[in-house]
Amino acid sequence: MVRDTIDRIGVVGAGTMGNGIAQVAATNGYDVVMRDIEEAFVENGFDSIEGSLERFDSKGHLDESPEAIVERIEGTTSLADLAGCDVVVEAALEEMDVKQDIFADLEEIVDEDVLLGTNTSTLSVTSIASATETPGRVVGLHFMNPVPIMEGVEIVVGEKSADAAVELAHDLAEDLGKTTWESDDKPGFVTNRILMPWINEGIRAYDEGVATKEDIDAGMELGTNVPMGPLTLADQIGLDICLHASETLHEELGDRYKPAYLLKRKVEAGELGKKTGKGFYEYD
Ligand code: NAD
Repeated sequence: MVRDTIDRIGVVGAGTMGNGIAQVAATNGYDVVMRDIEEAFVENGFDSIEGSLERFDSKGHLDESPEAIVERIEGTTSLADLAGCDVVVEAALEEMDVKQDIFADLEEIVDEDVLLGTNTSTLSVTSIASATETPGRVVGLHFMNPVPIMEGVEIVVGEKSADAAVELAHDLAEDLGKTTWESDDKPGFVTNRILMPWINEGIRAYDEGVATKEDIDAGMELGTNVPMGPLTLADQIGLDICLHASETLHEELGDRYKPAYLLKRKVEAGELGKKTGKGFYEYD
């Protein structure tokens, strides 16, 4: 039911995750079509890819030139240009109606045996798939940020995801040099279900004066052997994204997922972390 000969990968969204997925796919030899809604967003996607490839190249981590890799990526603002793709991975906004509209449109554009993956962090894969007539080919392909660096991909199995589609999702991610694990389609899957309360607890501990932000991060890094403490990690992910994910989990799973008050206040103040130059820490 899903074709397993893959040459051309479509990516919907050229933001943080979409351009990362496009980069990794092109680096691994696939032709890529990367779509966003405005030309400027597509261009930003290419800028990020070029910057990242240059850093990999300067460390001698590429087998070919960054230009040769970028050449395999076609940018577009037209979803119709994804016709002819053998797989499509959606990495657009974390909004159910946006994702459902994209999947309904994709179904009209790509062949019937094309795997449709969503990179959603917290939304139900089953609900996204319900916008299509062919939910068996819809699977969660949850890449981690930054995609070119993070090794793991969480494969999320929707209520209607077919075994062949799930298997192909594992194979594709592994072919992109990643290691996979599987989660049922429950809110937050494995990663965000456990990560978001950890981050919120770090923020509450800071807000309640348990320790300085540096000591909270150091305590978790040195005391529990994670590479980054909760406040540094929240800044890296983006505080708006953490808040949005926490709100979805709170809605689905109840009060133990309530976002920290300070997280909301920071987002309201536009202090979103590394991307705005200020979150819990300040960045150049
Ligand atoms: P982002 O805001 O950086 O990028 C989203 C892009 O999608 C934007 O460029 C936007 O213009 C584009 N877009 C919106 N509607 C579109 C449409 N109809 N067609 C094509 N493009 C459209 O967001 P992101 O951080 O890249 O997140 C993308 C997805 O990946 C979300 O579902 C998010 O939850 C998930 N995700 C994010 C992270 C993370 O750490 N940022 C990690 C894992 C998963």
